[in-house]
Amino acid sequence: MADKKMDIVPLYEWEMFTEPRPSVIAGPCSAETEEQVMETAKGLKDMGINVFRAGIWKPRTHPGCFEGIGAPGLKWLQRVKEEYGLKVCTEVASEKHVQECIRHGVDLVWIGARTTSNPFLVQEIADALKGTDIPVLVKNPANPDLDLWIGALERLNRAGIRKLGVIHRGFSTFDKIKYRNDPHWEIAIELRSLYPELPFFVDPSHMGGSKDYLLEIAQRSLDLGFEGLMIESHCNPPAALSDAKQQLTPPQLSDMLYNQIVVRDADSDAPEWRENIDQLRAKIDIIDENILYALGSRMKISRQIGEYKKNNNIAILQTARWDSVIAKVAEKGREYGLSEKFLGDVFNAIHEASVEIQNQIISDKIQ
Ligand code: PEP
Ligand code: MN
Repeated sequence: MADKKMDIVPLYEWEMFTEPRPSVIAGPCSAETEEQVMETAKGLKDMGINVFRAGIWKPRTHPGCFEGIGAPGLKWLQRVKEEYGLKVCTEVASEKHVQECIRHGVDLVWIGARTTSNPFLVQEIADALKGTDIPVLVKNPANPDLDLWIGALERLNRAGIRKLGVIHRGFSTFDKIKYRNDPHWEIAIELRSLYPELPFFVDPSHMGGSKDYLLEIAQRSLDLGFEGLMIESHCNPPAALSDAKQQLTPPQLSDMLYNQIVVRDADSDAPEWRENIDQLRAKIDIIDENILYALGSRMKISRQIGEYKKNNNIAILQTARWDSVIAKVAEKGREYGLSEKFLGDVFNAIHEASVEIQNQIISDKIQ
């Protein structure tokens, strides 16, 4: 059972991030050399970044790739703190990592996607962090499982971690999509509505997997109201030992954040805006009622068909009939400017609910 509410310190009370949005964490995928870390950190400091990331221990898909510099790299992060005054953060995946981070004064840690999927490791990390005041950001698990993500947050919160937030980096998928990881924005939106108090970062670098998609993903996440971004930045991206394709130089990042991204207001008190938006929302409310009425009526007929099938001993699932419904809907939908994908999602959900009702009727659970 998910905890109803978590005990969370608001992001702007962590003394790391300041309004206005977005709150940005930037830095290389991996700390590679002391020079690379210092040069990147200097570039980021000069463009106004306050929180520096660098992977010290890297979870790589294949052995033999660069698996991070390990604990010696934490000394470089200490230099970044001392010389540039940046807060520093890295990924932890075990109790030992946490202990090393505490010893080296790391200001924030995050739990990576592969680790969030593992409750044993999350519990081990939560126990190791008990009694510290280190903020923790939890990336979504690699698989699209909201409960697993929430469970990890609960473990940390129950261990007394109140400076807690999330990073949405998309989900692994076998499908061929243009991004490296599938955004499944609906999962992020559901998490936000369940726990609006949780600080929310989006990681366009790992979601997109290419620097070409960073802007559109970052813009999308701001438009959805998420307050933070974690973005990879490297002083010389083509030479990076991990994730070379998705990293920006600090000046490129600066251009994206300050010249290209549009930060929109969450709301406004301007009278003209208020009047128009209230009218438009009233129209939407009426349409929503009509949709509900139509869905209810459709479901009533579905039940009648279920009873009719039962009395005539006919199977519930009629795939040919459903294929023709979907084809008709797709064609009609085009006239209304609705995408086939959207209609497929909506109508398949409706179909599933109909089949479920008819199943219950046939198995006599409903009269
Ligand atoms: C990272 O942020 O460096 C990283 C490994 O990301 P993820 O856990 O999202 O794959
Ligand atoms: Mn990376």
